[in-house]
Amino acid sequence: MRWKRVLFSGLGIGLLYTFFIQAKIAPDYGPPVQDKPIRTIVVDAGHGGSDHGATGKFSSEKDITLDVALKLGKLLEEMFPDVKIVYTRKTDRFDDVNRKAAIANEAKGDLFISIHCNAAPDIKRTVGYKTVTYRDKKKRKRTRKVPIYQSSPNPAKGTETYIWATSKNNAKSESLRNNSVIVFDANSEETQQLMDTKDPETIIMLNTLRNAFFDQSLRLSNLVEDEFTNAGRISRGARQRNEKGILVLHATAMPSVLVELGFISNPEEEKYLNSSEGQHEMAGCIARAVKRYKEELEGRHKPGSIAPRQEEPVQPATPPPARVNPAQESPAAGGPSAADADKTDYRVQLLTTEKVYTSQSSLFKNLKGVERETLRQKGKSINKYIWGNFRTEAEANAALYKARKNGFKDAFVLTYRNGERID
Ligand SMILES: [Zn+2]
Repeated sequence: MRWKRVLFSGLGIGLLYTFFIQAKIAPDYGPPVQDKPIRTIVVDAGHGGSDHGATGKFSSEKDITLDVALKLGKLLEEMFPDVKIVYTRKTDRFDDVNRKAAIANEAKGDLFISIHCNAAPDIKRTVGYKTVTYRDKKKRKRTRKVPIYQSSPNPAKGTETYIWATSKNNAKSESLRNNSVIVFDANSEETQQLMDTKDPETIIMLNTLRNAFFDQSLRLSNLVEDEFTNAGRISRGARQRNEKGILVLHATAMPSVLVELGFISNPEEEKYLNSSEGQHEMAGCIARAVKRYKEELEGRHKPGSIAPRQEEPVQPATPPPARVNPAQESPAAGGPSAADADKTDYRVQLLTTEKVYTSQSSLFKNLKGVERETLRQKGKSINKYIWGNFRTEAEANAALYKARKNGFKDAFVLTYRNGERID
């Protein structure tokens, strides 16, 4: 299922890889409707147990994140009864971030949302000087003036939503590789062949998948910040981050965002973050963003309305993280997508010829399960050689790539519904 999404936005990315370029000229795959691209959402309350996260004047990050995560999960459960909501924790419990990522991967999540609060260090101001005595290297007494500081809370406030930094791309690909069966949503022999992870073709596919997840994560991060802005919050933007604690973003084999709800270090925001109204509002914003994101993936909007707004540049951060390049945003539209996956499958047409080959022919030596279909056309027999039976379009496109690598330059994907060819 995930590969549908790859195609969906992969085609928008810039068609970096041959098989996508070629897939685009392949026959149309049907109406632009995605079948349940989101079946499981993982909600992660940051920190927990002995790990308090950031602390304010009267509260700890771990408690706010848990409250908001539970409220968000409840809203999502109500909004999408057919989506499974998985929590990395529902109590004040400590888990290593690796464990949290593992929970998300084991749940085969289609989306990972991590909830955190920000903090900024107190601001030190020089309010005067005092003279202090010290001894130099030769033990002689000396004096010098040193500033007297007064600290006050940092006024920084507002929300930020993070996605993984592109410098962690290799780590994200690695997570996808380690969860490859999950990624491909199938365990067929064809998939096993395709997922030979020493194979450079597989690496290209995983990187393509990762790029699609990056675009999807970026899109959701912008939607989350948009909803915060609509609610009157100060949005500090969607950003990439490459710091400790962000491991969950690249260790999860799915699109993932990390939402910083606000600054616990700001007294005004600390109150808001702890208030019941504030928590409902924040959970509501994130839930609405997920709804918009989900609808876009499901293709309920026209391509025009799916396109991320290019005039929405990603804010620079303090400290400045890697800037999210708006050029990497791409309309998640224009790609083929499939209808009901339960009844749809995909095959790769390798070749049409008058010649007859058996499935054992050396021509097909790297492609198992090639079948021949014979048609009569103008008194001649025309043979079509069709390979595989793939449950997802993604697998089929990966197979298509492999077929072309094996010399079938004109191969393309066929879509079947209930055993009938539909394109
Ligand atoms: Zn945190």
